[in-house]
Parts: sequence; C-alpha cells; structure tokens
Amino acid sequence: MPRHAPAPGRFAPAFRRPVLAMAAAVAAGLVAVAAPAAPAAATSGDGHCEAGYVGLTYDDGPTPEYTEPLLSALRENGVRATLFNIGEKAEKNRELVEAEKEAGMWIANHSWSHPNLTKLPEDEIRSQLARTQDLLEEITGTAPTLFRPPFGSTDATVKGVAEGLGMTQIIWDVDTRDWSGKSAEEIVEEAVTVQSGEIILMHDGYPATIEAIPAIAENLRGRDLCPGMISPTTGKAVKPADDPVSP
Ligand SMILES: [Zn+2]
Repeated sequence: MPRHAPAPGRFAPAFRRPVLAMAAAVAAGLVAVAAPAAPAAATSGDGHCEAGYVGLTYDDGPTPEYTEPLLSALRENGVRATLFNIGEKAEKNRELVEAEKEAGMWIANHSWSHPNLTKLPEDEIRSQLARTQDLLEEITGTAPTLFRPPFGSTDATVKGVAEGLGMTQIIWDVDTRDWSGKSAEEIVEEAVTVQSGEIILMHDGYPATIEAIPAIAENLRGRDLCPGMISPTTGKAVKPADDPVSP
C-alpha cells in the first residue's frame, strides 16, 4: 500500500551547516587544514550508495511549461529519475521527450490520454498502452519496459495488458501529493520518508515539485542512498544498469 502519512522530523539538512562552520573556521584562521571535501553529487556513480537506491518518478509529462526546468533541476542535483509520459502530450512535445532521454532519464508509459483504465474495455486499454508505447519507441529508439496506470487505478486486466506489451506495472511507495497544492517543503517532508528500494510519486507540472529537488537530493546523500532505476524484473529501485562506475 502507498504510504500517505507524513513523517515529521525525518528531514534533516545533512551537510550544509558543518561545511559552512568549517569554512568559517578556516576563514578565521582557526583551522590550518582544508575543509572536508564537499558532498559528492547524488549521482548513482559517486561511490556513496551503500544504503541502496530509491526511485524518483515524475508523471504526466511532458509539459511545455515544466519539463525543461524539471530536467535542469534534476541534472544540477545529479539526479536521474523515471518519467511516466502521457502519449498525447509526448506527441505534441516530441522534442521534450528527446530532451528527457538526453538528460539521462528513464522514459516510461503512463497511457495515451490518462483515463481510468479499469473503466475501459480491454481493447481500449490495449490501445491506450500500445499507442503510447509505439510513439515513445519511435521518438527514443527504445520501447519502455515500465508502465504506471493513471491514478494508480488498476486490476488484473490492466496489469495483464501491460505485461502482454512487454511492460511491468509500477505503482509507488511514497505519495508526495505534490498535485494538491503542497509547498516544496511539504513535498520534501513526504519524499524523504523513502527507504531503500522504494519509489516516490511526483509530477511534471508543479513549480513546488521542482523547488523540492535540491533538498530531496541532499537528504538522500546524507543517508547514502542514490537515485536509481526501477527494475522491470522486481519493480524495485536498483543500481542503474548503464552505470559502470557505481559500486
Ligand atoms: Zn498521472
């Protein structure tokens, strides 16, 4: 079951204060040695992933307003994420899907027009998924292996259709509820409850979601967690397969 309850007090700034304190001491001539190295970027290849991997996911893109700033924030903070794209938005914004791929993100299927798939007959479910699958493969050169049903609404038929098209159904463990008008701080408080292997639900469509990225990345670094890919085999966040330097 996705967790919804907030976990107050679990978000603690990890590095900033000690580093600043040391820098101030150095500047004041109190410390002869260099300040400790700045925290490494939260890429999966930085060698600080001892606690494992978590899956950051952003649904409902690509959007002309938010995809580019979202990608910039992810890149600046060394974060790779899985983006569940809506087919009809991808068709209108092909260059943004290309930008997602270029930025090192994993691109996944979130249906063609975001209906509640459990209300549709099986042939329409198949059309919703297959049309999106074909388009994303055409744009990126790779058919997605992950599918997330809109609203997380699914049943055995929906799951079976996705599997028949070569995709694993992925829901989430942590729901930030970023779509409900939450502040960046509130989104961070939810996101940092994530544990190794788990998946966080966020969206491409809200400025606060983008503003939350640096603090989420900092929290993960402080816990030796790294942003990972979602395994189509297990449905869990794992070390990226295309990342030869991670431990
Ligand atoms: Zn959605």
